[in-house]
Amino acid sequence: MAGKYIYFFGAGSAEGNKEMKNLLGGKGANLAEMAGIGLPVPPGFTVSTEVCDLFYKNKQRIPEGVKLEVEKNLKKLEKAVGQELGNTKNPLLVSIRSGARASMPGMMDTILNLGLNDRTVEALIAKTGNARFAYDSYRRFVQMYGDVVLGLKPANKDDIDPFEVIIERKKHDRAIHSDTDLTAADLKDLVSKFKAAIKEKTGHDFPENPMTQMWGAIGAVFSSWMNDRAIAYRKMYDIPESWGTAVNVQLMVFGNMGDDSGTGVAFTRDAATGANVFYGEYLMNAQGEDVVAGTRTPLPIAELAKDDPKAYAQLDKIRHILEKHYTDMMDIEFTIQQGKLYMLQCRVGKRTAFAAIKIAVDMVEEKLISEKEALTRIEPDQLNQLLRPIFDVKEKESAVKNGRLLAKGLNAGPGAASGRLVFNSIDAADWAKRGEKVILTRIETSPEDIKGMDAAEGILTARGGMTSHAALVARQMGRVCVAGCSELGIDYARHTMTVKGRILKEGDWISIDGTTGQVLEGKINTKPSEVLQVLLEKTLDPKDAPVYRTFAKVMKWADAYRTLKIRTNADQPNQARNAVAFGAEGIGLCRTEHMFFGEGKIGPMREMILADTVEDRKAALAKLLPLQRKDFAGIFEVMNGRPVTIRTIDPPLHEFLPHAEKDQRALAADMGLTYEKVRDRVESLHEFNPMLGFRGCRLGIIYPEITEMQARAIFEAAADTKKKGIDVEPEVMIPLVGNVKELAHQEKIVRRAAEAVMKEKGVKFKYLVGTMIEIPRGALTADEIASVAEFFSFGTNDLTQTTLGVSRDDAGRFLTPYVEMGIYAKDPFEVLDRDGVGRLMRMAVDKGRATRPGIKLGICGEHGGEPSSVEFCHLIGLNYVSCSPFRVPIARLAAARAVLLNAPLTPAKTAAKPKAPAEAKTKKVARQRQGNGRT
Ligand code: PEP
Ligand code: MG
Repeated sequence: MAGKYIYFFGAGSAEGNKEMKNLLGGKGANLAEMAGIGLPVPPGFTVSTEVCDLFYKNKQRIPEGVKLEVEKNLKKLEKAVGQELGNTKNPLLVSIRSGARASMPGMMDTILNLGLNDRTVEALIAKTGNARFAYDSYRRFVQMYGDVVLGLKPANKDDIDPFEVIIERKKHDRAIHSDTDLTAADLKDLVSKFKAAIKEKTGHDFPENPMTQMWGAIGAVFSSWMNDRAIAYRKMYDIPESWGTAVNVQLMVFGNMGDDSGTGVAFTRDAATGANVFYGEYLMNAQGEDVVAGTRTPLPIAELAKDDPKAYAQLDKIRHILEKHYTDMMDIEFTIQQGKLYMLQCRVGKRTAFAAIKIAVDMVEEKLISEKEALTRIEPDQLNQLLRPIFDVKEKESAVKNGRLLAKGLNAGPGAASGRLVFNSIDAADWAKRGEKVILTRIETSPEDIKGMDAAEGILTARGGMTSHAALVARQMGRVCVAGCSELGIDYARHTMTVKGRILKEGDWISIDGTTGQVLEGKINTKPSEVLQVLLEKTLDPKDAPVYRTFAKVMKWADAYRTLKIRTNADQPNQARNAVAFGAEGIGLCRTEHMFFGEGKIGPMREMILADTVEDRKAALAKLLPLQRKDFAGIFEVMNGRPVTIRTIDPPLHEFLPHAEKDQRALAADMGLTYEKVRDRVESLHEFNPMLGFRGCRLGIIYPEITEMQARAIFEAAADTKKKGIDVEPEVMIPLVGNVKELAHQEKIVRRAAEAVMKEKGVKFKYLVGTMIEIPRGALTADEIASVAEFFSFGTNDLTQTTLGVSRDDAGRFLTPYVEMGIYAKDPFEVLDRDGVGRLMRMAVDKGRATRPGIKLGICGEHGGEPSSVEFCHLIGLNYVSCSPFRVPIARLAAARAVLLNAPLTPAKTAAKPKAPAEAKTKKVARQRQGNGRT
């Protein structure tokens, strides 16, 4: 076996560094880096991620060659620290920890205090003079080893950990309440009881031989790469299975050696708010798992300045060294062993969206990073968290006044959530599947709860601090979270929560405020976020809205770097207003059919559909015209000269008619028709999924008077608006075109209406006529279509449906399993399918530009607000993306990141800015087509 599989670190040097995450995992690479820059790291070695691969290829056994290397590095470690594994006088104790390329907090297994057995424990007692400490370490080791390596775990979801059952029984027998009251003799007895339970329930003996322990532990950590929660986590965060985990073997340092020892986790800045303060928690006389698991509520890091001023000062110095070195907010773990500080881990810290944005902006101002770097550090979807609701203040105040404030915990994940109480993750996921909003309420969470946490609106725990599992994971997921709410008495078996003498049952409503930590009984309505209050409601002054100001800065930087324009999909003036407030630069899709459901419009619309003659249809359309004109005028006014793409009617007409017999009879009576006539018309217009029949431009071709009315309404509104001194830029878009003749047919009607209106109103205005590219033939013949179309807008909802042959309306049943099985990496209706739909888009872009170099190109399918799809649109050289108003900020940032994260585009395809040769070129292509006899 050739190659290097193990990397040593500590004792003044390191074989690895922070750039080697792929090989050493995040933990291993950063331990090496810290050791390399002289920080106090307990020495050890990292078994590389390549070994994980070999381990699985070798039937989940550690290859012999690797074992030899481990033994060699173990010798080196023993030499460095002057201890020896299994030595009965001076035993080496090590920790065995996982560490993948991407952080997967708590998803895989860890074993501490390895090397202890009935003989070495005696040596530890002799060395430390502390039998209680030695036996406590031993029982923790047996407990972890029994669970992780030998598989003694709770049998079902309501069960308590079998080792905890033994501890509780012991405490009961000894009439004590706290673990710390257990004596050395109690702990020694627990060790033998644990071993007996392991033997009885698993059939395995606990191994006394430290090397057997070592191989078992390394193997178990590699095996934990494939446990359920790690697999679920990888799926959630797109972490490939092929990456594997590394294993870190490291000298144990003890935070539980007495009152001069302790352990903690901290962030170099506040991970919830982003404030530039040292932020974290610690516990004296404890091991790391006590802090992270939330079994004891830790103290804020500032208190350490009093408990151990020397260690605190050193830690605070390291905090600054790390931020400068990594130029980012770091998450650290440390241990103080008898007054000496050790760094056990550092990694880039997870943070809330609030914090991510604030830290990025602050670091630019502190000259630690550039604006560009700041933009690449904020995931566009994180902006969603800023746009999330908060509680209606009045409603919350009255809830508090009425005695509904149940308790206060830690404000671990900001935002407001209301939901029904559930007490385990399986129920949370089941209830959420049924469409219920739930608050997952646990004594404390563990990595097993990941699916339930994802399904819940919010997470509430009775134990644990700001860096407990619940708090960390909730923040990362963007869930509202109140942690460490110790007043809650949670009974898993009865599915109840007792607080302030009240008993709340599963299914009862509660509300949690993750910004203040309050827990309230009942449901409380929510209100828009600070950003929304400034931008949309205008109820908050930006000077009173720090979160908004930071958000605005990021948006300003994003706008400076992006090349894509951002438009919005809106069909009401208020939607358009919201979108402009969010930064929209135009409307990319106004679905006119949405306007027909407005007040007074559905009647004439139905008359039009039920008409038997052109005259009757025209009479009904004449009633619709002024109504549509008013709608368009409203939008033009709000858009104030920005381009507005208005699409002619698209959906099948049956969507406008009633389907229940009762309603059809009522409509018939209303219109003086027979019920049978209405029923038959509905049936004749009915479309089955996927609806690809009598809709789109086909409606306007068979009933040209509809297009004529809509074009008139658009242009009359444009003329009237222009007369008011407001600029207009209408773009009329024809849907579902697959053949240039369809477009040419509709174009004629639209242009005729434009000319007529300009003449009648005595006003000139610019306008464009273009099409959606949303069926494959449209993309395949884009060169021909571009001879008529002045713009293309990719309708990727229909283009996905038609390219994949998957109905957009009933794909739900199999798409989720498809994604789970990896057939599609993501739901293609959410994230653009680059390899299929994307290829057609690329082709249409090239063909469109070949015919008409100046053609305007955009997207208006739902993908226009999804970051990865926005990036793709940038890469293929579209001019704009169009998305729903609330996604406009996300698209702005995604567009900037697309520029910053990708190499410059090739000028030939994307940067072509022709002066205006479109006409001449168009004619030439048209002639060629005639020559080819294809038209
Ligand atoms: C599309 O198909 O992508 C589109 C924007 O149109 P609609 O969703 O209205 O069919
Ligand atoms: Mg469509």
